[in-house]
Amino acid sequence: MNSEFKVSAREFRPQKFSEVISQEFATRTLKNAIKNNKIAHAYLFCGPRGTGKTTLARIFAKAMNCSNQSDGEPCNKCDSCIEITSGGHPDVFELDAASNRGIDDVRAIQDAAKFYPIKGKFKFFIIDEVHMLTIQAFNALLKILEEPPAYLIFILATTNPEKIPQTITSRCQRFLLSRFKINEIISKLKDVAKQRKIKIDDESLFEIAKLGDGALRDALGIFDMVISFSETEIKIKDLKEFLNLPDKEIYFKITEFVKSNDTLELLNLFNSLVDKGFDLQTFYNGITEHLRNILIIKSTGNEDLLNETDVIKSEYKKHSESFTAEEILRLLNLLFESEQKFKYSFNQKIFMESLLQEMVKLNSETVNFDKLITELNEFKKKTLNPEITDIDEIVKKVTPKKDILIEKLKDLFDIEEHIN
Ligand SMILES: [Zn+2]
Repeated sequence: MNSEFKVSAREFRPQKFSEVISQEFATRTLKNAIKNNKIAHAYLFCGPRGTGKTTLARIFAKAMNCSNQSDGEPCNKCDSCIEITSGGHPDVFELDAASNRGIDDVRAIQDAAKFYPIKGKFKFFIIDEVHMLTIQAFNALLKILEEPPAYLIFILATTNPEKIPQTITSRCQRFLLSRFKINEIISKLKDVAKQRKIKIDDESLFEIAKLGDGALRDALGIFDMVISFSETEIKIKDLKEFLNLPDKEIYFKITEFVKSNDTLELLNLFNSLVDKGFDLQTFYNGITEHLRNILIIKSTGNEDLLNETDVIKSEYKKHSESFTAEEILRLLNLLFESEQKFKYSFNQKIFMESLLQEMVKLNSETVNFDKLITELNEFKKKTLNPEITDIDEIVKKVTPKKDILIEKLKDLFDIEEHIN
């Protein structure tokens, strides 16, 4: 890779509203505000990390100060646009409240706010992670927001709007930015791969998008990491090796072993994963997601709701047939209940091992009543045939608590004479 490589999140950052994927409500409203000249003095962009809050703030600042602005969009060619893109415009200030959170920092803003803009029509203060400001700093900010000069615009960005005083939020026009959908991230990755002239298969696109967990910036970061290794072509096999991702197959095997009460094979599989250095938290999340996928198919019958490739979707469809929704719910509950304990456990490996055994135990204790009734009907037929009377075997198949069940059956059917 050459030394001029710019990280994809920066290189391919949207420079116009029309280039922003998703966040349609925010982009349309801001564009209309510019076109109709209905500008507020303070905006609050809320949303999870990597959803484009500062990107949107910069586009807005650019469009407002652009000398060739058209249809609410910046031209990206005039001096002002170029300076904002490069971060060198004298009227657009960006601050990170995570590291500049005190009263002095806000006083500096107060002082700077007193003067007219040097170049543009508007002076912008973009404050990221604004919830980190101290109470004194918020009070100082409030003073400016109470009587802002006509040229002043604040854009406050935060991942935690609930931590901002209401006196501040009530003076802001608020936008909620949402996590990106997996397909939106995939289409952006496809676009970046094309521009970087990198071949990438669909499964890899999917895997990277999923790892981004709704944050485009994170997905692009993973993409960069992978191309530093693969250079011109990304294949799913290499990707999995590089990121050390457990294969989907592993999770199918885990539930298979749980279903068949095969503790030995289950622990063997788990230990082989640990030996390969798989991250245990990733493994935990993987099983949880896997069970969730099965449950979704069980409760909706629709595999299209899964965030998976078509091949995996049909595998889920097949796999889910051997479980009841109750069985899966029980296993999921166990994982949810143990999540915190697992996270803070000193020995996650041993914790996970005992959890897997617990899953087998839980599953074997589940009595499948449909199956039980079928087996009992079979048994009824067989009792008419004097040669086959082995209820013990049948009961063993449906539940390990056979002694209790046998007792109940004796009472229910009065079949003492058929049991040895
Ligand atoms: Zn411009």
